[in-house]
Amino acid sequence: MNLIGHYINGKETPGTSNRTSDVFNPATGEVQAKVSLATVEEMNQAVEIAAKAQPAWAATNPQRRARVLMKFVDLLNRDMDKLAECLSREHGKTLPDAAGDVVRGLEVVEYCIGAPQLLKGEYTDSAGPGIDMYSMRQALGVTAGITPFNFPAMIPMWMFAPAIACGNAFILKPSERDPSVPMMLAALLEEAGLPKGILQIVNGDKEAVDAILENETIQSVGFVGSTPIAEYIYSKGCANGKRVQCFGGAKNHMIVMPDADMDQAADALVGAGYGAAGERCMAISVAVPVGEETADRLIEKLVPRVEKLKVGPYTAGNDVDYGPVVTAQAAQKIAQLVESGVEQGANLVVDGRDFNLQGYENGFFIGAHLFDNVTPDMDIYKQEIFGPVLSTVRAQSYEEALKLAMDHEYGNGTAIFTRDGDTARDFANRINIGMVGINVPIPVPLAYHTFGGWKKSAFGDLNQHGPDAFKFYTRTKTVTSRWPSGIKEGGEFSIPIME
Ligand code: NAD
Repeated sequence: MNLIGHYINGKETPGTSNRTSDVFNPATGEVQAKVSLATVEEMNQAVEIAAKAQPAWAATNPQRRARVLMKFVDLLNRDMDKLAECLSREHGKTLPDAAGDVVRGLEVVEYCIGAPQLLKGEYTDSAGPGIDMYSMRQALGVTAGITPFNFPAMIPMWMFAPAIACGNAFILKPSERDPSVPMMLAALLEEAGLPKGILQIVNGDKEAVDAILENETIQSVGFVGSTPIAEYIYSKGCANGKRVQCFGGAKNHMIVMPDADMDQAADALVGAGYGAAGERCMAISVAVPVGEETADRLIEKLVPRVEKLKVGPYTAGNDVDYGPVVTAQAAQKIAQLVESGVEQGANLVVDGRDFNLQGYENGFFIGAHLFDNVTPDMDIYKQEIFGPVLSTVRAQSYEEALKLAMDHEYGNGTAIFTRDGDTARDFANRINIGMVGINVPIPVPLAYHTFGGWKKSAFGDLNQHGPDAFKFYTRTKTVTSRWPSGIKEGGEFSIPIME
């Protein structure tokens, strides 16, 4: 059995805790590896190594740091197929989707190559007589991140690329469900020239997370995962004096106006609702057609599309639309929520409950489900299902649809499909959700913009990647300097005013 340890001080190191977690192949249901779960001592040792390595890295000029990232991009492209295959084998998503996971991370690395420009400070010449003032952005020191299972390449890169570009050391605690790709990324970065100890991977569970939160050397914590854990990490991290940003769960609504191109809307919903088996924080999980006639037309278009979806293992290549979900527990939770939808009176117009994939009976495959006539009091509406289940809530007017999305506790992403620019503009302006698509179902911003939700989908002030990441991973220092004449007229006792 393959035992996955940690990546400490530039090499793979076996764990010492004797505690492990199973890593499954979700397509077959087999345990393909075990991952070590770190102790508090192992985490603290990694932090010590990081703290020793970090000052020299911060003192390396930003152009040289950027060159390491340039080389890393080349290596990611060189090993793209290997990374995607490993990612699919542990996560279950299709190969093209796994490559997309790597590419969306790689794009943030490319953005971070701009570090010399992005880290430039501000300067005021002659702020007062003989006085200059300048502000600079300095690295925080040792930083840490805790990531979810659903994007094991992209989200770690969204965190560690800006962190190390800014001159920090970074400790990553990846998801214990699919830890191999983060380990490969650390090895590739070292091959690209990153000094030992600047990026370390400490695998683990709550014990490792709590060790991060309690460690006084760690200056900042980034988290992406479910909302209850996001709230826990945000409150504990802040109470312990750390800079914290946490991104949580989602329930993304797509509003379909009567004037929308119904084929386009149905195609968009199928891709955004069922792609990656619905295991995306930007998946559309609620369709909101406006008006009964729109709803009837939409359901008529959706049903054959959903029934036709091809579910299978990643080894089938381009021949599958989505793969298994990540674990048997995830599959069970989805099945329970589907049952609750039926019991609470929603209309299951595509029923995937009997789905079985021949030859893969032990895999964690779930058939596609489509609900109609869902109401806001139902559990399938209130909770994040994170599976291939799309709920349709019929709204009678645009205002009702808008209010529905606004009243939901989550606020990660949303979309509107319409041909009317006035409605689209009104929606984009009024909606209380962080990322908005107009005739675009999954509006994930590109690397040079920022990514983040509102309400219970995000905690903290700054978003991920883009300019916000360079603010999150640095602190500002402002220097007021008087050269060369110095103080000649004795001490000043009132607050200085620049005249
Ligand atoms: P999760 O919350 O179960 O786990 C995330 C991380 O937290 C993992 O590293 C895990 O080991 C750790 N963790 C789990 N339980 C913990 C505990 N009790 N104490 C401390 N740490 C703990 O999430 P997941 O199932 O891996 O990922 C899916 C969730 O992530 C979904 O809710 C999804 O919406 C969300 N997500 C959000 C975004 C976003 O940007 N908003 C992006 C991707 C995923």
